Amino acid sequence: MDTAPEQLSRAVIPPEVLEVLETLERAGFKAYLVGGSIRDLLRGAPAKDYDVATSARAERVVQLFRRVVPTGIKHGTVTVLARQRGVEVTTFRGEGAYADGRRPDSVTFLEDIVEDLARRDFTINAMAFNPARREFVDPFGGLQDLRAGLLRCVGNPRQRFSEDGLRCLRAVRFASVLNLSIERDTLAAIPLELDTFSKVAVERVREELCKLLVGAHPGFGVRLLGSTGLLSRILPELVEEVSSKEAERHLEARIEALAPELELRLAGLLWELAPSLALPAAERLRFPRKTQELLASLWRHRGFTDAHVPDQASLRRAIAACGRTAVGPLLDLAAAQAKAEGGGDRLERIEALRTRVRAALAANPPLSVGELALDGRQIMEALGEKPGPRVGQAARFLLDQVLEDPSLNSREAMNALLRGWRARG
Ligand code: ATP
Ligand code: MG
Repeated sequence: MDTAPEQLSRAVIPPEVLEVLETLERAGFKAYLVGGSIRDLLRGAPAKDYDVATSARAERVVQLFRRVVPTGIKHGTVTVLARQRGVEVTTFRGEGAYADGRRPDSVTFLEDIVEDLARRDFTINAMAFNPARREFVDPFGGLQDLRAGLLRCVGNPRQRFSEDGLRCLRAVRFASVLNLSIERDTLAAIPLELDTFSKVAVERVREELCKLLVGAHPGFGVRLLGSTGLLSRILPELVEEVSSKEAERHLEARIEALAPELELRLAGLLWELAPSLALPAAERLRFPRKTQELLASLWRHRGFTDAHVPDQASLRRAIAACGRTAVGPLLDLAAAQAKAEGGGDRLERIEALRTRVRAALAANPPLSVGELALDGRQIMEALGEKPGPRVGQAARFLLDQVLEDPSLNSREAMNALLRGWRARG
């Protein structure tokens, strides 16, 4: 048994998680915290979620707890609901052969934590800890690698990547998020297993890409994607961009200048691409429809930050054309691009525009037909018309008037405007 490092103690682990471990052990089973939670606690970072590995079979785990969700009984996994938290409890497991580079053909349940750790991808993810006994299990030197800032496969990298091609991308994702160097043999194996990687389901790829993008060092991650060849399999559209040193540097700096929000960083990644390349790429990676729609509107209104907006009315028209949700990201993207290119006048101009946009929006002016003081029915009443194209035309006329002068957005003013409009035919 390894000595437990001081960062690991009962005190840092939530009581409901300790209870799950204790319930299993009282019933005569072994139970450990494993994987990401141990890695994060050792880095001094808060753990996101707690995974438990146990000698108990899933059927027994189900009996031992009051509230459980049978998330993956076949693979030995159930989720125990412990107060407000879901704790994933998985039976010690080994994996059979991988015929397809995606999923093991079978899983076998084991009695021993060390064999369970051996199936895990990287040494820093293959440590276990039992807080009650202060038992720390680290058969592959994960703690040492973590302290040295190294990401290393458990076992032979080529073999591990050929079992599950996603691990190639996970290597780059963990290196990028945690700012680790990829150990030499692990790094060298990635380009050799790109064909295995290409067989992985697109949803799994997207999920890892998202984690990389919202992480602490997305620029570093993108550089690794390029140098390992993974980028050519995930986003071949970008390969040309990263083949020029300067363009690659801009791309990296642009992403890093953006706040860690997924849609923003995704747009930042693709920002130099024509819409005919960027939008199909997002569709191919099966991003949610809402994300694809936001990207489409960002690309459609790319010109917003270059538009000539000499007065408040033209500024309101420009904001209305983009829509409120796209304006912030468009300013962020333009500012990030300007920073990547060295800041200067361009950045100052964008920040000045941002200040004006903020002021304009603070007054909460009506920017769309839905925000007019009269709704469709009231417009019909005022005009004495039945539903039809004339009503839409009238609404657009009113919007045009209030974009010019927001104080006209009252019932009386609009009724007067409509009388004039009708009189003009
Ligand atoms: P995160 O903080 O991103 O959730 P994590 O380490 O918890 O990081 P998960 O993807 O949630 O990562 O997986 C939990 C654990 O399961 C990992 O720490 C690792 O031990 C193991 N694991 C996950 N995916 C794989 C894989 N493809 N191959 C081998 N082991 C894996
Ligand atoms: Mg996790």
